[in-house]
Amino acid sequence: MESLKGKVAVITGASRGIGLGIAERLAQSGVNLALISTNLDTITKVANDISEKYGVKTLPLQIDVKSSEEVNAGVKTVLDSFSQIDIMVNNAGITRDNLIIRLKEDDWSQVIDTNLKGAFLFCKAVAKPMMKQRAGSIINISSVVGVMGNAGQANYAAAKAGLIGLSKSLAKELGGRNIRVNTIAPGFIVSKMTDEIPQKSKDEMFSRIPLGKFGEAKNIADCVAFLGSSMGNYITGSVIQVDGGLNM
Ligand code: NAP
Repeated sequence: MESLKGKVAVITGASRGIGLGIAERLAQSGVNLALISTNLDTITKVANDISEKYGVKTLPLQIDVKSSEEVNAGVKTVLDSFSQIDIMVNNAGITRDNLIIRLKEDDWSQVIDTNLKGAFLFCKAVAKPMMKQRAGSIINISSVVGVMGNAGQANYAAAKAGLIGLSKSLAKELGGRNIRVNTIAPGFIVSKMTDEIPQKSKDEMFSRIPLGKFGEAKNIADCVAFLGSSMGNYITGSVIQVDGGLNM
């Protein structure tokens, strides 16, 4: 029904949390996967487990998304192995939170380079093969914080808002070649990243979620599967909020 079987997806930040959830969800639908993390041992184990469990081909890659050399070489390896890239999921992300008066320049740069420049590098690297294929779905994982802003997260919010501008611009640039570019803006999803948020802030956020619960990686993964499949064929340039109603 979803027309995903035999497709090829590249997922950054696939070693845990939301990225791992996306990998498992796409594998369930028969998608072959290139899985990316900065840690080769971890991502190799993830890739082997997924292949064994779902019977799809997987290619683990150690790539720092901040490095254009590593990204370009990685995309070449994916094309050498799979000959096509149908779905690109830019999910890798970090936080270095602080109030602006304490926010170090390096914390600004690390977050912008990982969360925004990393996605730019992958979009640029997959654009050509997708243009040749005259098909592709790029999905950038932003955040509700990129839409609403958040005290103490100026760097993160700027990067995540930047992803929305990047996605909309590429949707306009690449739409004529049947390449769709969309953004997902997750709300509070249980993961290592949110484990680190102080309990007081979590309680406060929880009280503002109309659905009365935190999200799971699976909720984001289902949205990726939808956008990556033919069910999302007429959707581009959208920002899809998967946040339990937190932002409205
Ligand atoms: P997470 O558990 O901390 O996972 C982050 C992933 O990014 C890991 O796989 C990590 O891999 C990878 N990564 C970090 N820096 C990288 C780099 N330089 N190169 C390659 N990979 C890198 O985070 P998460 O909660 O699953 O979040 C995933 C994405 O969703 C992020 O973009 C985050 O901003 C966004 N998001 C999360 C939430 C939430 O509530 N959790 C809400 C909104 C948006 P290694 O450490 O193995 O390299």
